[in-house]
Amino acid sequence: MKLHEYQSKQLFAQLGVPIPRGRVAASAAEAKAIAQELGGRVVVKAQVLVGGRGKAGGIRLASTPEEAEEVATQILAMQIKGLPVRKVLVDEAADIASELYLGVTNDRVARCPVVIASAEGGVEIEQVAKVSPEKIVKVLVDPLLGLREYQCRNIAAAIELPRDLWRDFTSITRALYQVYQRSDATLAEINPLVITREGRLLALDGKIVLDDNGLFRHPELAEMRDLDEEAPAEREARKYGLTYIKLEGDIGCMVNGAGLAMATMDVIKLYGGEPANFLDIGGGASAERVAAALDIILQDANVRAVLLNIFGGITRCDEVARGILTALKGRVGWPPMVVRLGGTNEEEGRQLLAEANLVTASSLVEAAEKVVALVKEAVP
Ligand code: GDP
Ligand code: MN
Repeated sequence: MKLHEYQSKQLFAQLGVPIPRGRVAASAAEAKAIAQELGGRVVVKAQVLVGGRGKAGGIRLASTPEEAEEVATQILAMQIKGLPVRKVLVDEAADIASELYLGVTNDRVARCPVVIASAEGGVEIEQVAKVSPEKIVKVLVDPLLGLREYQCRNIAAAIELPRDLWRDFTSITRALYQVYQRSDATLAEINPLVITREGRLLALDGKIVLDDNGLFRHPELAEMRDLDEEAPAEREARKYGLTYIKLEGDIGCMVNGAGLAMATMDVIKLYGGEPANFLDIGGGASAERVAAALDIILQDANVRAVLLNIFGGITRCDEVARGILTALKGRVGWPPMVVRLGGTNEEEGRQLLAEANLVTASSLVEAAEKVVALVKEAVP
């Protein structure tokens, strides 16, 4: 679950990270009132759960309340990467001398948290990593010891931060780490952390991604979920206990088990295809759940073919097949589907599907080859 910029910055501020004064508005009139209150130049920022808002025109400066109202009107009418803007954050504008990057995330290889910093902030860190990896500093954190002060000073030195800012930088970095750690986040990021013309550090942007599996421990964070901002398909999936993540490709995937789902996506890519989604129907999925999953996959207009990869353990293949048939019943036309069923009751499952004229495969590789070929045929 992602938090909005304004929510993330509030959590940072609670632990002492300096953020600009400002508030959220849902209308242009409200934005104007906030600008009036702040009394001066403001920045109006689209609150959507995607990055790169600046480039998309979702972040604009305004020198008067009237101008703030004007740009808020424009931003509130925008869609950024397909998401309609429903709220804007109106912040006191900062005079920026330079922009830094500061983030905490999981280092999966090292199996511990990592603090990442760079003097090249404001742009996407992935971009910096590609173009000038030497400008990125990484420090691993022992989760039992937490982030130590000396580590923060090492980071400050490595990004050549002016000496007089080291103390503030240390408390900001430690606060960021605490937010990350206490809220079971997978990412806590300030980009940019700016040095203002007055020579102060200020967190201009904030991003927090929470681990959904830890959310039950944080009802107050779970409450921050913005249902409006979630893809409807993801909301629907959660209702049925499915894990669905929409991706950019055109091959819909329905798999049982997260690991198998990842492997399936990898194999699709290996054979030249692009998965349209990640979907784990979980163990012991009922026909009803399978039907819901297939409906969700087919709602994605990009999907040109579907790969179903089911390994029956606790899950029974015939039950899955029945779910597929239920989902297809009454549907007029559907994209080609390749089904790989293996394990418990696979014979019965295959028989049921053969009657529905679905393509079957006996191995994942075969299934991936077939589905990629079908997509290539389907492209007009
Ligand atoms: P993102 O594009 O979604 O990451 O949004 P950010 O909040 O990071 O803003 C993008 C860029 O807009 C920043 O890197 C700054 O260069 C600029 N920006 C944001 N807030 C201000 C501000 O208060 N004053 C000025 N001058 N620029 C700002
Ligand atoms: Mn940013």
